[in-house]
Amino acid sequence: MATYIVLLGPPGVGKGTQAENLAAQTGLIHISSGDLFRENIKNQTELGRLAKSFMDKGELVPDDVTVAMVKDRLARPDCKAGAILDGFPRTPVQAEALSRLLAGFKGDVNFVPFINADPRVLIERLSDRWICRTQGHIYNIKSNPPRVAGRCDLDGSELYQRDDDKAGTVTNRIKVYAEQTAPLIAYYRGQNKLVEIDGTQPIEKVTDALLSVIRKGQAGMSWSK
Ligand code: ADP
Ligand code: ADP
Repeated sequence: MATYIVLLGPPGVGKGTQAENLAAQTGLIHISSGDLFRENIKNQTELGRLAKSFMDKGELVPDDVTVAMVKDRLARPDCKAGAILDGFPRTPVQAEALSRLLAGFKGDVNFVPFINADPRVLIERLSDRWICRTQGHIYNIKSNPPRVAGRCDLDGSELYQRDDDKAGTVTNRIKVYAEQTAPLIAYYRGQNKLVEIDGTQPIEKVTDALLSVIRKGQAGMSWSK
């Protein structure tokens, strides 16, 4: 049986950072809907142009195109053992679509770690976030700086700050999260899948907490590592 983990939490809480760590530890594939959109923007696709018009305002990209994009990614052979979903689902419609999609692969969402922190913490983290140009590796000038300023430790590419990490857009993203994504907390709690994790802890502590959740529920699941 494949394992599917949904990382839930507000913008800037550390979903991408933790998904990278968990992927390295478990061998599961990290799927970030935000990264998939940014790839489309970089490649100047039709989807990229559409997504950019929403992302620049801190609004959500419409459910239908988002679901179709994630569906394509999940159907690729490297996701056979499962995936760590970061930033998807973000609405109840997306959550229902994911459930149907995984049922088609004879799978289900296994765990939903809900990582949380106050808006004040989120705003500070996002204003200090730097991302690598080629693969989206995540840094923070205060809490997780690169070894060489402005360069990715892993692939040497240039680091940049995302346009939507500007203060005004961040405030709107947190509002959109509260209105459209936070209902998923109750949705997954009702399915007994939600596990709350304190996102204010240092990065390694959050990773340890996530790994212990996964190990506890791991019996009978397969991992490639
Ligand atoms: P998300 O994917 O939820 O938006 P990121 O993983 O991109 O969040 O993290 C946002 C910023 O906060 C990044 O600069 C990252 O390096 C930093 N960060 C992530 N987790 C922590 C943590 N536990 N403590 C301090 N900084 C963190
Ligand atoms: P963060 O890491 O700060 O949470 P993401 O990289 O996940 O941000 O998302 C950046 C932007 O991409 C979002 O503000 C939204 O416009 C768009 N986006 C990403 N995932 C989704 C999704 N599941 N549904 C709709 N829009 C999305």
